[in-house]
Amino acid sequence: MLDWLIIGAGVHGLHVAASLRRRGSTLRLLDPHPRPLAEWDRRAEALAMTHLRSPLDQDLDVEQLSLHHFAEAQPRPEPGMFAGPCRAPSLELFRRHVKWIRARLGLDPLLERGTATGLELVEGGVRVESDRGGLVARRVILALGHPPPSVPAWADPLGGAALHVFDPRFDRSPPSGSAVIVGGGLSAAQLALHWARARPGAPTLICRRAPPIAELDAASRWARPRWSWRFASFPLAGRLSVLDAETRRGSVPPRVAARLARAQRRGSLRIVFDEVVDVRREAAEQVVTLGDHPALRCRRLALATGFAPAFDRVPLLDGIAEELGLERGPLALPLLDAGLRWHPRVHVVGAAARLSLGPLAANIAGARLAALRLAAP
Ligand SMILES: Cc1cc2nc3c(=O)[nH]c(=O)nc-3n(C[C@H](O)[C@H](O)[C@H](O)COP(=O)(O)OP(=O)(O)OC[C@H]3O[C@@H](n4cnc5c(N)ncnc54)[C@H](O)[C@@H]3O)c2cc1C
Repeated sequence: MLDWLIIGAGVHGLHVAASLRRRGSTLRLLDPHPRPLAEWDRRAEALAMTHLRSPLDQDLDVEQLSLHHFAEAQPRPEPGMFAGPCRAPSLELFRRHVKWIRARLGLDPLLERGTATGLELVEGGVRVESDRGGLVARRVILALGHPPPSVPAWADPLGGAALHVFDPRFDRSPPSGSAVIVGGGLSAAQLALHWARARPGAPTLICRRAPPIAELDAASRWARPRWSWRFASFPLAGRLSVLDAETRRGSVPPRVAARLARAQRRGSLRIVFDEVVDVRREAAEQVVTLGDHPALRCRRLALATGFAPAFDRVPLLDGIAEELGLERGPLALPLLDAGLRWHPRVHVVGAAARLSLGPLAANIAGARLAALRLAAP
């Protein structure tokens, strides 16, 4: 029997797999995609992302500062390899590093393709059912990522005419006519800058307020194991207050804020601070009704409205909670112990583990914290 089955081969699944493998555990990763980090790549592509937000010291290897050394060992330093004062790596460098880790640690052969649909306890372990058969392991790690993208109610009737940037059907290629992007965070800013660069004057970004400016989406102290352990020891109400106060929702790094301001000054991007009230279709156009400004007409409407906050629409989590009678907290988050156990045989990592890991749970830093927790006695 395998020691571990990790469901989800994203940032979290891959790092945790690397860490467990180094400790000699037998494991498999279960994911419907043909290679690890496929979702990450798709989202980065959708936004024409050039650099990560996180600093160079946050990478997916088991060794400390691996990406730093990997960058130094490149035969030719490339222009644009890093961005900002925290030296955020380029997406290209990060991808090459991930490929190198996968090869070095022999992770690709551990990938089993399939979508997990449920699990049941069996003697000495857990049997996970997927659309391609069953797998048995002593323990399971749920590394499922974020809840589904958040789509405002007014966008529902528009169907394919107003796609979320993380919808697999979304096409990031610059629109040939007028375009509107709705959303206030980094994803919206990145797509707006991409479209502004490609077709000056075309896009309008609609956001409720000017995005707060911050290098990272939470203070870097939350990447430290000591802070994360302390966080896990607070009562639930205290942890919720910390998450609320310390998570910089919708923020953008200073370098992106500066590019937005520059694009606005040059007239290649328009930013409107307002709330979308309704959108209706008129022939080939969308008419966007705003709270305080005149309505806008556009041929292309993109939603960069983030992920749903709650985990109540993740069928696998619902099924497991019901099958094993497990508790959930606010936003339907699994209630875990400090070892990230939801059940003695079921662990949770990533965004769904934020009540235990803290404000950076969903990030690369959170994957590193999770691996340490799983290794703790
Ligand atoms: C555009 C973007 C940029 C980001 N940039 C950074 C950054 O610079 N630095 C940083 O630290 N963080 C960043 N983040 C945050 C975070 O690192 C990513 O969201 C990351 O993808 C989270 O990893 P994950 O493994 O939790 O989820 P995912 O990458 O979404 O992986 C989850 C995997 O689980 C699989 N899965 C889900 N359900 C099942 C199932 N039932 N059966 C089998 N498999 C399943 C999916 O197929 C997927 O492959 C960024 C996020 C986004 C969206």
